[in-house]
Amino acid sequence: SRKGTSNDDFVMFSDELEQKIKREIYLSKAIMQAVEKNQLRLVFQPIIQSNSGEIASVEALLRWDFEGAMVSPDTFIPLAQKNGAIKDIGYWVMNEAVQKLAQLQTHHGAIKMSVNVSVIQFEDIHFVDKVYDIVVQHNVSPSDLHIEITESVFSKNKLALISMVKAFQTLGFLISIDDFGTGYSSLSVIQDLHVNIVKIDRSFVINLHLKGIDIVKAVMVMSHGLNYRIVAEGVETRQQASTLTTLGIHYLQGYLFDKPLEFDVLLDRLMQQSNQQQAPTLLYSANS
Ligand code: C2E
Ligand code: MG
Ligand code: MG
Ligand code: MG
Repeated sequence: SRKGTSNDDFVMFSDELEQKIKREIYLSKAIMQAVEKNQLRLVFQPIIQSNSGEIASVEALLRWDFEGAMVSPDTFIPLAQKNGAIKDIGYWVMNEAVQKLAQLQTHHGAIKMSVNVSVIQFEDIHFVDKVYDIVVQHNVSPSDLHIEITESVFSKNKLALISMVKAFQTLGFLISIDDFGTGYSSLSVIQDLHVNIVKIDRSFVINLHLKGIDIVKAVMVMSHGLNYRIVAEGVETRQQASTLTTLGIHYLQGYLFDKPLEFDVLLDRLMQQSNQQQAPTLLYSANS
């Protein structure tokens, strides 16, 4: 009967839900030990300068290898935020990213690194100082580290957060607003705060042929005089890249150019790029 069917559906739904909750509890416990058990690693996705096609910087993205599989950050970051594990994880990420940046800069001096940061990390009043210590320790310039925060950072305790963000900027770090346009306070955030970089969310790039283009244009109008750099996220097609470049977007990031890369692969990619740049000179000296 109809009733029987819907009861079965309900049973199945609650089974699934129970499994899902059990899995979350399990992962939530496990993520607390991920740092000490050496289960974390970073991958790096290039950010491309639109007019030259060259890599301007890379974004560090966290990966968790757990029980033979990779758990997505979209799954474990929220859990780590809830149970506080993100604090230790955040410092692990910062140390690892800055160390890798220092290594990259020995061969490719101009490259920069973006690191994602959660609002919970700002609860540590020594957060800014500790990050500063890390860059000093690795002899990296603060201006080469771009700190990516989302608008949600500003949903609570706004004033305290704004002052910490300003403290970062005073030390020379650049602040980047991630997933821009998806929060409810986008406009006020970049008015209250002089951010350095705005990353237009992937959802607008996907909808570029529809309403997305209006958002991109609006961000560009706002950027007039504010002097911030604009990055478009999630660029997957040539069409998107050429539309964005024509509109005057300076930086592009997405699968069209690169997926997040293992460090060694990134090194090869950068090496290839600089060999290409040197090719005409080499050719010239070989002929002369
Ligand atoms: P995000 O910072 O906005 O990073 C962009 C995400 O989009 C990454 O997913 C990236 O792999 C993916 N992506 C890049 N280009 C494309 C594209 O062309 N198409 C599609 N479909 N996706 C693309 P990922 O690595 O799974 O990270 C997801 C989110 O997890 C990040 O979003 C960020 O919010 C968070 N996250 C990652 N690493 C960290 C971290 O170290 N700390 C913190 N607090 N959050 C992190
Ligand atoms: Mg990001
Ligand atoms: Mg993003
Ligand atoms: Mg995101």
